[in-house]
Amino acid sequence: ETITVGDLAKRMGVKASEVIAQLMGLGVMATVNQALDVDTATLVAADFGYEVEQGMTEEIEIMQLQEQEEGGEEQPRPPVVTVMGHVDHGKTSILDAIRKTDVASGEAGGITQHIGAYHVQASSGGVTFVDTPGHAAFTEMRSRGAQVTDIVVLVVAADDGVMDQTREAIAHAKAAGVPIVVAVNKIDKDNADPERVKRELGEFGLIPEEWGGDTIYCETSAKRNIGIDELLENIQLQAEILELKADPSRKARGTVIEAQLHKGRGPVATVLVQEGTLRVGDYFVAGLYSGKVRSLTNDRGEQVREAGPAMPVEVQGLSGVPSAGDEFVVVKDEKMAKSVSASRQLKARETELASASKVSLDNLFEKIAEQEVKELRIILRADVQGTLEAFGQAAEKLSTDEIRVRVLHEGTGSITENDIHLAAASDAIIIGFNVRPTVKVKELAEREQVDVRSYDVIYHALEDIQKAMVGMLEPTY
Ligand code: GDP
Repeated sequence: ETITVGDLAKRMGVKASEVIAQLMGLGVMATVNQALDVDTATLVAADFGYEVEQGMTEEIEIMQLQEQEEGGEEQPRPPVVTVMGHVDHGKTSILDAIRKTDVASGEAGGITQHIGAYHVQASSGGVTFVDTPGHAAFTEMRSRGAQVTDIVVLVVAADDGVMDQTREAIAHAKAAGVPIVVAVNKIDKDNADPERVKRELGEFGLIPEEWGGDTIYCETSAKRNIGIDELLENIQLQAEILELKADPSRKARGTVIEAQLHKGRGPVATVLVQEGTLRVGDYFVAGLYSGKVRSLTNDRGEQVREAGPAMPVEVQGLSGVPSAGDEFVVVKDEKMAKSVSASRQLKARETELASASKVSLDNLFEKIAEQEVKELRIILRADVQGTLEAFGQAAEKLSTDEIRVRVLHEGTGSITENDIHLAAASDAIIIGFNVRPTVKVKELAEREQVDVRSYDVIYHALEDIQKAMVGMLEPTY
């Protein structure tokens, strides 16, 4: 039994072009009139939240993963905030200071549990913080298509000003279209110069309100606990502009913030609920896995029966460990949960095979020949600035009519996990001079199938690239 692309699209209420795009992602080139077998239709439909079933009459039935529910009304929900900024500018200290302001946790004796996110009830309102500071978590989630953050708090030390990772954070927030609230931190320091920070950030379009712009700035000292309440108030102000809403009466939908295999408790995942209410006993799909909510634990270590919009909870009852950024969806029953998870696992195996062909120096020649790549993108790391410049210029000169060589991003210092994420997301290779990846970074590169090469001499790297371009590079194993 088959179903055409057009028919499938119509029955799911989406555009045929969207189905075609999704099929392309699976490596299937199709037209509107193309007939799909049940397996393929199942895979695509799952992406749109539908399930395909072959009924008694051999008729293909399309069922919704989450049926449209009646009634519910959207209600204001708390904002979800990620704190970013340069290392040592005070991200962790600010998160800690904020956590201490929580009225409710004070009453409970302040026993906190690190589950990857926490919710505070400040006098100005509730806010949820993703408390894995740093950019890797943010990029990793985004590279999986998950957007959990409504507002970025950009921490800049008043005695240090805009630094590398400050710029990086601005780039990430802008790419995600997330508004920035600036916390000018360490204002207790003698050499603090908040005005300078404003001038520097102004160059990135973050113009303070008092200069006619629309960026909210707060001056804080995480150490002396100054300005923390104001920061929370200003987050609420920014949130009001965004008019954040969700319908708590629906079945829950959210994103996995982090997950691990816990000794004794099995797989556990922290889920940020984004829509609806999650309850003990619900059947769900989380990434490739499924399950039934056995228990819910909040950020204070308390067992709860349910969690509404913007609330983070730790879920037990999963069939496996999902990845950060995976979608978490409550479905109507166990059968649906299992069948969606099974079809996703099948699809994952297929994409794993497909992504085996990420660009590398070893397959560059074939990719050029098949016109799959027109640009060799390189992320460059070196121990010294001079090497970056020298290699960058020489490498770009290797460009030919068929392929352009381009340095996408460069920096001194060791190869980071963020470099790998960036390379994976933009199909780039990584070249390091006198820097070698740590074991952890290497493992990540392998998982993401990113080609990482280390050299001591610029000339050798250039030679390898040149050989790869003409198909003469000896493969390395
Ligand atoms: P992160 O790397 O951005 O998470 O920065 P941390 O929160 O770990 O802070 C780095 C250092 O700056 C620590 O030694 C903190 O004690 C210190 N620090 C953080 N906030 C302040 C502040 O407001 N004033 C001063 N004087 N020191 C601070």
